[in-house]
Amino acid sequence: MQILKYDIAVLGSGLAGMRASLQAAHYSNGKLRIALISKMHAMRSHSVSAEGGISGVLYPGDNGDSVDLHGFDTAKGGDYLGDQDAIERLVNEAPGEIRFFDHLGVPWNRSEDGRIMLRAFGGMSVPRTAFAADKTGFFMLNALYDNILSFPNIDIFHEHYATHLILKGTRFRAFVTMDLATGERKAFLAKAGIIATGGASRVFGFTTTAYSSTGDGIALAYKAGVPVKDMEFTQFHPTGLIPSGVLITEAARGEGGYLLNSQGRRFMEDYAKSKMELAPRDIVSRAIITEISQGRGFVDETSGLKHVLLDIRHLGESKIDEKLPMIKELVVKTLGFSPVKEPIPVRPAAHHTMGGINVNLNGQVMLDESTAVDGLWAAGECGCVSVHGANRLGSNSLSQCVIWGKIEGEAAAKLAMGDDLMQVEDITERLDSAEGEIDKLLANQGTENPYQLRRELWDTMDEYVYVFRTVTGLEVARKKLQELRERYREIYVSDKGRIFNANLREAIEIGNMIEIAQTIVEGAINRKESRGAHSMVEFPTRDDRNFLKHTLAYRTDGFPRLSYSVVKITKWQPMERKY
Ligand SMILES: Cc1cc2nc3c(=O)[nH]c(=O)nc-3n(C[C@H](O)[C@H](O)[C@H](O)COP(=O)(O)OP(=O)(O)OC[C@H]3O[C@@H](n4cnc5c(N)ncnc54)[C@H](O)[C@@H]3O)c2cc1C
Repeated sequence: MQILKYDIAVLGSGLAGMRASLQAAHYSNGKLRIALISKMHAMRSHSVSAEGGISGVLYPGDNGDSVDLHGFDTAKGGDYLGDQDAIERLVNEAPGEIRFFDHLGVPWNRSEDGRIMLRAFGGMSVPRTAFAADKTGFFMLNALYDNILSFPNIDIFHEHYATHLILKGTRFRAFVTMDLATGERKAFLAKAGIIATGGASRVFGFTTTAYSSTGDGIALAYKAGVPVKDMEFTQFHPTGLIPSGVLITEAARGEGGYLLNSQGRRFMEDYAKSKMELAPRDIVSRAIITEISQGRGFVDETSGLKHVLLDIRHLGESKIDEKLPMIKELVVKTLGFSPVKEPIPVRPAAHHTMGGINVNLNGQVMLDESTAVDGLWAAGECGCVSVHGANRLGSNSLSQCVIWGKIEGEAAAKLAMGDDLMQVEDITERLDSAEGEIDKLLANQGTENPYQLRRELWDTMDEYVYVFRTVTGLEVARKKLQELRERYREIYVSDKGRIFNANLREAIEIGNMIEIAQTIVEGAINRKESRGAHSMVEFPTRDDRNFLKHTLAYRTDGFPRLSYSVVKITKWQPMERKY
């Protein structure tokens, strides 16, 4: 195994990982050596597909907006499971980050007086989402990438797939990776590590997310003994395109789009009279599934998928071209008609991982409520700093990614500037065993096809762990996942080569996904209430007395072991959530 030594190793080059790298470089005046590692080309990271925008109060007072109101909306939107110290940090720092990206050159849409334009998003009291058409993530990531290239001490490792996180006691030591181009195993030893590997929504079959959102970083931490938090809270975005699941941004409704049932009615009137289509996503998703299950949906003839319609025709072609060009292109290319002329078929799709690696307010990885892993942080969607609680508000994720990317990049830089790089000798055995595990998987002569296991995983999650959950359904899923985990031991990787062995990489991803899915189901089955995106048919109301707490899941050989931790309430007392 090749050993590479760096001051900081950043695993993941989405918005969180790139923002962290840039901040560490700025803070150290470019002195620190930083490895930025990505399993695909850095610019293909999933953040590139973020469409609708980034939230932050740029003009306090306009429409009565304030950072306090942004905080309130976020706490309420998350059904009061969010840690409010983190929410306060999010809303206070978001405007500064949007301006930082303005200085980096993001071409925000602007009004005639030159101010950054803001659009409405679900669950927000007033429009406060800055955007660059419907390609916000692309422009933000591009701006970071361009700037990162000007720091010669940041080395970018494209197409390096991380298989192991190595800790020594409570100290971060290394990430073990495979160079996909050559198959060579490389260990990145560093004084500080940041995991920024994105979400895990690919554990579901019908999802808006990229094939890469397999939750690897969450799984690496979990397998290394770190608990994962609140994994039962998966966000289902109301408008996944039929039949692919590709996202139709909430901005389509923010700009004035309607949802219609088969009777041609704007049914959101029955579920959220004041906010209508701009109610939070959990509420809109439940409304769509209720309409469908009560016979007021449509059936797609080819896929058999049931759906409702998103109508943006009344916005007119010029507004659609100016504000939603990618949506128009997407519908034309994939469905063969223009949304200027016909409504778009949509249904809820898995979209966002609200839970993730257990971290504290500063994003540092925590083994329990009081024991930190020295030198290790988790940023972006993989780290549960818990701003989103039980239900993320649209456009709060990009803010979270860049804010905690910045915080953690700076903290890692501070540590790395004062620390000596440890020697490799004390982890040689661990590195050898990590390499041995990969070799063993490759050589395994089992009979299980990894893609068959993935198909069964997707079917299970889509059927039993979707928008509405039942105790019986979750029990079926729990049993099935344990079966898949056992069958996974008998997996057969048919490509035995080393060069671009996607078969091997995917086999590892599938193993990760099965274990992540177990944490989702275990958390869900034990949360006997409905809160945010976790909706139990048998327990239809929120139960603050028993469940105003975070779930922590620890890995065992069998089902995950659960414990719970306190939710931090600062200013916004839990109240009934009405829209
Ligand atoms: C279609 C879509 C549109 C969205 N639009 C918005 C929006 O408008 N506003 C908003 O706030 N939020 C939006 N979101 C959510 C938001 O885009 C994501 O939460 C955010 O981009 C996640 O960024 P990240 O940096 O955490 O991870 P990602 O951008 O997902 O990057 C993950 C990185 O980790 C790397 N990686 C993963 N596993 C490994 C491994 N094993 N080894 C090495 N590298 C690895 C990947 O290569 C990649 O570089 C959207 C989500 C989707 C699905």
